[in-house]
Amino acid sequence: MLGDQLDRHSAAFDGFESDRDGVWMAENVTEATHVWCHKQRLVLFFSAMRHFRDELRAADMEVAYHALQPDGRHDSGPDFASILAADVRRLAPERLIVLEPGDWRVWQMLQNTADALGLPLEIRADRHFYCGIEEFRDWAADRKRLVLEDFYRHMRRTHGILMDDSAPAGGAWNYDADNRESFGRQGPGRLPTPLPFTPDALTREVIDLVDARFGDHPGRLEGFDQPVTADQAHQSLKDFIRHRLAGFGPWQDALWTGADLVHHSRLSAALNLHLIDPREVIDAAVAAWEAGEAPLNSVEGFVRQILGWREFVRGIYWQQMPDYIELNALDAKLPVPTSYWDGETDMACIGDAMSNVHDNGYAHHIQRLMILGLFAQLAGVHPRAFHDWHMAMYLDAIDWVSLPNTLGMSQFGDGGIVGTKPYCASGNYVNRMSNYCRECRFDHRRADGDNACPITTLYWDFLDRHDQQFRGNRRMVFQIRNLDRKRENPETMAGIRRQAADLKTRIAAGERV
Ligand code: FAD
Repeated sequence: MLGDQLDRHSAAFDGFESDRDGVWMAENVTEATHVWCHKQRLVLFFSAMRHFRDELRAADMEVAYHALQPDGRHDSGPDFASILAADVRRLAPERLIVLEPGDWRVWQMLQNTADALGLPLEIRADRHFYCGIEEFRDWAADRKRLVLEDFYRHMRRTHGILMDDSAPAGGAWNYDADNRESFGRQGPGRLPTPLPFTPDALTREVIDLVDARFGDHPGRLEGFDQPVTADQAHQSLKDFIRHRLAGFGPWQDALWTGADLVHHSRLSAALNLHLIDPREVIDAAVAAWEAGEAPLNSVEGFVRQILGWREFVRGIYWQQMPDYIELNALDAKLPVPTSYWDGETDMACIGDAMSNVHDNGYAHHIQRLMILGLFAQLAGVHPRAFHDWHMAMYLDAIDWVSLPNTLGMSQFGDGGIVGTKPYCASGNYVNRMSNYCRECRFDHRRADGDNACPITTLYWDFLDRHDQQFRGNRRMVFQIRNLDRKRENPETMAGIRRQAADLKTRIAAGERV
């Protein structure tokens, strides 16, 4: 069992017989340091794995579990493959059974290890997802373009979710027009806080381990309050349905200083570790709408994220890997800005998103896409570097979901496989959707000069740089037309290019922006 497969009902347990079969799990340093992980990410994985181990043992299953030791001297081995190889020699199993891993690299490593040991490896399809890997390939096979909207409607029809016979419930496939509210000038008022889970003895043991062995990793360790068991994940779901689902739709895109969660669900980590099944999440949201407890625009918007986006990006990952990770359609080269590690910056928007990442190993979708992702894309950060950073800093990051979102949706590194256009915007967008610009030392309207907003400067420079690539894109017509207008004043444009070059040089040199 891998750390992101913690589901008692998964296909890995089909036909499991306690007197014959055993479960094998291992914490190891290589996976923990493969990327320089946020401390809370390590706590989440190890704590959830240890809780799962105990649950299986309580159900009379034999579990061979390798726990990292605080002193580091009594670990079972340095990496997954060597620990597994030693146990295969010791336990002499007939074969290995594993659920489809969520990471191409891990899949290869398992296959290579089994081959080297001369042991059959049975890889079972993961029915956690609505859409299987092969099923997605079939759906995608004859299509010129993979469009989320087509896939999402196909999934709604196939699974009869929010459908009135063959028509979408309420008469429309989406209610996006109702779902773009900002908090205006007055702000959100008191937002509901998520149900916290005080660390129990097992989680505290893991917190001490992480502190002792990975204390130099980024992120804050204190304040960890995530669900680490299936039971807690179900409580989180109930809390979201009761207190935040109704507001999910309208404020899906809204940003506000200190509003770490807005009305989002904070269910991604529990979903991605398989502590909860997406069907239970979707059924609960639909039931809330049927009971009149949440409006359709919120429920449809939420269902679209899970039934649409989540399944879509997984399909794309397995359809496109291993080549996908090498893509860099915009030839971006910069490293991730220093402030993405320590949060120190004068930019109010980046500072607020980064404090969420640092404190919680989390940022909501718009902070990821339209603040941290946007700035990285406009500056020209290498999409692979952005993905590696994301894998390190977020509790919910698993390769299959992080890569298409970072490299694809956010950085347009795939040249338009996940999304049909780059998500690029100037500081005006940030100002419209948040209060950040009001408290920022930069002026979102200015593209050059001392207090020019770096996002606005880099926005024009980005369009200018990639003009030829974007000119033919029908969804970019307005932006390219505005660029042409801007270019009518060559002096302004030259100033923007100079200022952008200076920003990029500073980011490349690791200086703060
Ligand atoms: P909510 O806003 O409440 O959404 C509900 C659920 O829908 C989420 O829990 C998640 O399971 C699913 N979902 C929503 N959007 C997406 C999406 N684009 N792709 C896949 N699932 C989605 N999500 C991850 O789970 N892991 C990642 O590593 C990840 N990396 C991302 C990187 C970038 C740059 C961007 C722009 C998005 C990324 N996402 C990722 C998608 C999305 O931002 C997170 O799922 C979401 O912010 C998690 O918070 P939540 O549970 O409160 O989500």
